[in-house]
Amino acid sequence: MRSPVPDLLDAVLEECRDAGDDGELAGSIPELADADPERFALALCTVDGTRYAVGDAEHRFTIQSISKPFVYALALADRGYDEVLDHVGVEPSGDAFNEISLEDNGRPRNPMINIGAITTHALAGPRGATAEQSTARVLEGLSTFAGRELEVDEAVEASERETADRNLALAYLVRARGKLQDEPHDAVDGYIRQCSALVDVRDLAVMAMTLGAGGRNPVTGEQVVPAWVCRQVLSVMATCGMYDAAGDWMTTVGIPAKSGVSGGVLGALPGQVGIGAFSPRLDRFGNSVRGSRAFERLSTEMGLHLMHAP
Ligand code: GLU
Repeated sequence: MRSPVPDLLDAVLEECRDAGDDGELAGSIPELADADPERFALALCTVDGTRYAVGDAEHRFTIQSISKPFVYALALADRGYDEVLDHVGVEPSGDAFNEISLEDNGRPRNPMINIGAITTHALAGPRGATAEQSTARVLEGLSTFAGRELEVDEAVEASERETADRNLALAYLVRARGKLQDEPHDAVDGYIRQCSALVDVRDLAVMAMTLGAGGRNPVTGEQVVPAWVCRQVLSVMATCGMYDAAGDWMTTVGIPAKSGVSGGVLGALPGQVGIGAFSPRLDRFGNSVRGSRAFERLSTEMGLHLMHAP
């Protein structure tokens, strides 16, 4: 029997496209302002590795903040729970993604905001890894999550490097509090390269399902990180993943998720599905307008809300 999923994805795509063209393209990275605002794609990956995709599914875009949970996962796998928790907390900040959000002890509040993500980048790779080795580990690790070798968009990377003052300021602050293991410039350079990795919605769905399948990539079969790491990462995504709209997202969509400034959104329902969405117009919190709408519809139609009693 033919799966009902492709028809559902098509219907959600059309419905969410027709619902309007609100939102603005990202303004923080000049190169992203050139994106085609009409692009829209959805993908879903099941726990057995079956993938479905509709819309502009072949279009590649930079992963941006969606890389953060995966780099957090790599740091946890490489350095262990205690060392990572010593450097980055797990509390929602309620602040914007680029805020100075530090606890009294100098730890960034969580790994999903820039200040925490830059700190986490420097924790990827074995203890004593150089900044270059951490960045190589991050790109290799993101590729393993996606199940294919990801390339970097050099134009977006260069564009973000030119406008990195605020991220540099954040890195210097954490360094001054003793929580950043690399030189601030090196850590920010690596973090920007991480954000510039190119993905499509199918990659997002597979990456999400890998987290939701205890760290085993459902397509390649590779165990990317241990299962305990995924529990930790999905928990932090659930509370901190959607910028300062995380609470609203949890009540309306109910799926641990992470969005990025280029318009991607990824969500993982443990043991069930990984979902990827892309559409570049963002709401005032920085979340893709059409992507969020699509998640809400899919959650309702497929009964995916975590708090939904079957
Ligand atoms: N590379 C972007 C930055 O650091 C990521 C922001 C985002 O996707 O929220 O500003």
